Amino acid sequence: MNEKKLPAETVLYLVIPCYNEQEVLAETSRRLLEKLGAMVSLGRISPESRILFVDDGSKDKTWELIQAQHREHPQICGLKLAHNKGHQNALLAGLMTAKEYADILISMDADLQDDVDAVDQFVEKYHQGYDIVYGVRSSRATDTVFKRTTAQGFYKVMQALGVDIVDNHADYRLMSRRAVEALAQYKEVNLFLRGIVPLIGFPTAIVTYERHERFAGESKYPLKKMIAFAVEGITSFSVKPLRMITWLGIVILICSFVMLLALLVQKLFGYTVQGWTTLMGSIWMIGGIQLFCLGLIGEYIGKIYGEVKQRPRFIVEEFLHEQP
Ligand code: UDP
Ligand code: MG
Repeated sequence: MNEKKLPAETVLYLVIPCYNEQEVLAETSRRLLEKLGAMVSLGRISPESRILFVDDGSKDKTWELIQAQHREHPQICGLKLAHNKGHQNALLAGLMTAKEYADILISMDADLQDDVDAVDQFVEKYHQGYDIVYGVRSSRATDTVFKRTTAQGFYKVMQALGVDIVDNHADYRLMSRRAVEALAQYKEVNLFLRGIVPLIGFPTAIVTYERHERFAGESKYPLKKMIAFAVEGITSFSVKPLRMITWLGIVILICSFVMLLALLVQKLFGYTVQGWTTLMGSIWMIGGIQLFCLGLIGEYIGKIYGEVKQRPRFIVEEFLHEQP
């Protein structure tokens, strides 16, 4: 199972998705190589450790830069995706490729927003026995007010919908090889890694870090992509929005009964015109019944959705078994 190697034998892979990051790549490589070198000489990780840049179908010179870096430094590797598939898919591609070689994998953004020095603490936590270490930002001071409020609102909505995600954690995290292998069992195409990783289980820890401003270039997550990402997160993990339809239908049905009663009283006292009672009564009642039925269908769609995702039904953490 999770047989631990000595720190100096533990191979670390840093997985960095890059999309049009030519402005930051040289500096990112320099900083990461420096970190890796320091950790190797302190005996915290194996000299076999690598930095894996994943080019997510960039349109600029990103791949040429990665190639040049690879030629110059054997510790730098590159993986080029044929198309721009988005941050989450690029990250997954990197993790799935690197897991064949690594004992621990750390995912990090290319723009140096994630504090490189936190890597030491990540690895330390791993050696203490944690399989997953979440990088949690200590403050959002470097974000715009808009990004801060929308991001925090998003975490709250997700939690209210019953999705287990870690507050203020982006995709800066360490995973052990067995955690990444468990992640590989999640075959879903609509990827929202922040939601899947907590589902894996295994011992987890948190490291807080200061999030910096983007080193250079601009955010590859404009508002449109941010909204799409949020919708992805919610619809990939919660069927509660579907269930809300059922409840709305029930509420409207109850309203229609009250309404019907009021209408009948009005009719008895002769305050209404011909046909008003039946018309109003049927509009409300049929509306309520329709919504209720839609919600009911939604329940089944939710079930189908759960089935087609084919998530693993269990993940084994340990197995104590005597050899015969
Ligand atoms: N990224 C990617 N593919 C994309 C968009 C972004 O691989 O389609 C990478 C990007 O290069 C960066 C990381 O995902 O390393 C996070 O993106 P960014 O820093 O632009 O997002 P923000 O920090 O503004 O949320
Ligand atoms: Mg960024």
